[in-house]
Amino acid sequence: MQQNLRVPGPTPVPDEVAQAGAQPMINHRGPEFAAVMREVIDNLKPFFDAVDDPLLLTGSGTGAQEAAIVNVLSPGDPVLAVVGGVFGARFAEIAAAFGADVRRLDVEWGTAADPEAVAVALRDFPASAVILTHNETSTGVTNDIPALVRSIRAQVPNATVLVDGVSSIGALPFDLDGWDVDVAISGSQKAWMSPPGLAMVAISPRGWEAYARARMPRYYWDFRKASTNGARGTTPFTPAVGVVRAMQEALRLMTEEGPDAVFARHARIGRTVRDGIQSLGLELFARPDVASNTVTAVRVPAGLDASKLIKGLRKRHGVVVASGQDWLKGSIFRIGHMGYVRDEDIEHLMQALAAVLGDEGLQRAV
Ligand SMILES: *Cc1c(COP(=O)(O)O)cnc(C)c1O
Repeated sequence: MQQNLRVPGPTPVPDEVAQAGAQPMINHRGPEFAAVMREVIDNLKPFFDAVDDPLLLTGSGTGAQEAAIVNVLSPGDPVLAVVGGVFGARFAEIAAAFGADVRRLDVEWGTAADPEAVAVALRDFPASAVILTHNETSTGVTNDIPALVRSIRAQVPNATVLVDGVSSIGALPFDLDGWDVDVAISGSQKAWMSPPGLAMVAISPRGWEAYARARMPRYYWDFRKASTNGARGTTPFTPAVGVVRAMQEALRLMTEEGPDAVFARHARIGRTVRDGIQSLGLELFARPDVASNTVTAVRVPAGLDASKLIKGLRKRHGVVVASGQDWLKGSIFRIGHMGYVRDEDIEHLMQALAAVLGDEGLQRAV
């Protein structure tokens, strides 16, 4: 049975992308790799909309979160972290682990961050940096980054704004320059229909000024090393060569489709998923007006066993969805629909879900 992998990362990879990643190794200091890297960076640019070239780092999304923190902050810096789920919490924890003075603004899970609440928090705690999550993968909520940044700038004009775009950039519109964001991160296995292993970072001129002042310890993640090497078509340390080549192919496909068409496909499929869920009589976890077009969190109906539901989808239909995280484990499941996702994948998922919900034996054991 072919698997319909519908977790919010890793996401499915088209055959051409898998094959591109399986080519013979090449020297990462040679001209062939430099050409691959140049193409990858050029094709990434429209999705980040940043003047400077995005950096390629070898690591997962969490590595990129750590990279963002250690490159632009100093121990003791007052940092406001807007937290509406697992990934926002992780970003805040990393900042605290490296000695930032972190104040959390907790947002009710399933809702979006309120720009006015951010302004109020900053009046009380004028942070020099603010941490935001564009798309909170644990709850299926997309935050309004431009509105949040406007609110931040009205209070602290020169704050360094860090945005986790791991499950959004490449699938949802993003505009680092236009939105006045300073550091934005993403990861290859989410919207980019590529295998895990690469992280991407875009940095604004203000972000680079923050870099020049920042004193947190760093070595592997140093932005300057990545940028100097990137300009020469290489990386400071051995990169995940196969993943870079896979991503070269994935980005060719995304460029051919065109960023606007990619975003429109995600918007259409997001709506299809939410409509399908509701027509099965299920409830969305996220507020519908802020529900994500890359991941949908669904409440498990009262009396049903979430793990049996997830297992039934996988074993009987080859559909793999994700469980809830943290305190949501057992009460929601999550459907990934970013990157390589087509209408037929969602039709198949909805048919499988309808069949499993109709099955006996899903009732929670008492
Ligand atoms: C997946 C994800 C991460 C963490 O990425 P890993 O690659 O699992 O380390 C961080 N933030 C968001 C929003 C994510 O979706």
